[in-house]
Amino acid sequence: MKNRIVLLGPPATGKGTQAALLSAAFGLPAASTGAILRAEKTKGSAIGLEAENWTARGLLFPDELALRVVWQWIDKRTRFLLDGFPRTLGQAESFDQGLDERGLPLDTVYLLDLPEETIRQRMVSRLTCLGCGAVYNESFHRINGDSPCPACGAALSRRSDDTTEALDQRMAQYREQTLPVAEHYRGKGLLKKVDASPGRDAVFNAIYEDMQAGAAV
Ligand SMILES: [Zn+2]
Repeated sequence: MKNRIVLLGPPATGKGTQAALLSAAFGLPAASTGAILRAEKTKGSAIGLEAENWTARGLLFPDELALRVVWQWIDKRTRFLLDGFPRTLGQAESFDQGLDERGLPLDTVYLLDLPEETIRQRMVSRLTCLGCGAVYNESFHRINGDSPCPACGAALSRRSDDTTEALDQRMAQYREQTLPVAEHYRGKGLLKKVDASPGRDAVFNAIYEDMQAGAAV
């Protein structure tokens, strides 16, 4: 089985959902820097407050902070799935060096791949439940902004960061920062591209089988 996995991908590829499914299927501890920092903020820890300083100003965390957060989370773990980290080439290079020092090489970096046009369509038709946080797509789930949440009945809302300008910004960030990370891991022979256009289950099965294939030790 593959024990050390990174999931990369542009927005709206269902990366977070796949991370949760794979984590459950393989009993693999999973995290994203955002999730770890939200938990730290809730605890009121120093690192959580430091991160809050950046996010409150609408800025991305510096590489150094992202790395500290990830290493603190990894701690003594030897198996993990990281969702959306490393996000920059600088993070990737420092992370690789740290993994080398610990004798914990990455098994595979999966890149969820979608044409930009599909990402745009998915983003503008995405609705989030204000009650339970479930995410729906207007066209897939045949619901609209006036429908109640099928799961809990609360109201649905379009995320504020799903506007065109916000999306342009996130796509630019992805192209300028994350794609070079994918290229970096392609150069190391670790990158696997996964077509994210089929449904959630098909994407999950593709990654699941590949991770299983790594089981023949
Ligand atoms: Zn709901």
